[in-house]
Amino acid sequence: MDRSQPRPRGQVAETAGEIMSTPVHTVSPGDPVGTVADLLRSKEISGVPVIDAAGALLGLVSEYDLLAKSGATAADVMTTSVISVSAGTPIADVRHLLVDRRIRRVPVVVNGELVGIVSRGDVVALLATEWVCQVCGEAVRGDHPPEVCPRCHAGSNRFVLEDQSPGF
Ligand SMILES: [Zn+2]
Repeated sequence: MDRSQPRPRGQVAETAGEIMSTPVHTVSPGDPVGTVADLLRSKEISGVPVIDAAGALLGLVSEYDLLAKSGATAADVMTTSVISVSAGTPIADVRHLLVDRRIRRVPVVVNGELVGIVSRGDVVALLATEWVCQVCGEAVRGDHPPEVCPRCHAGSNRFVLEDQSPGF
């Protein structure tokens, strides 16, 4: 299954699996901290999961970990008490986790294996989604269509996702 495939037009993303970034940049527990720092810089990410040879999630190394802790390897500085979600976790739950636990990203784990990562940006991107009323043309932003159209009061079933791709 190609997880990077965009959602079909008009379909709402409901779960972590639908908005997660994949493939995930990862490091091994024995990787030197310099290698981890290089990866964060070159990929412009602020944290990276640490996985073992079987793909199991061991922890996360963030920029903060690199600054705050001293050690030679990823295993030395990683945060091990990592909250993860499954591919089927509702996006609303992911959003609450990111806010309540003040974390920037949450790994998505299926059957003990890391399959993706959902960052704050992935959830924020949903809020920029635009819905267009098929009755009056009103556009509304949000991760879900509005209950009723603010202009013509058409029901939420009359809203379709604005198609961003040109030529449609
Ligand atoms: Zn309308």
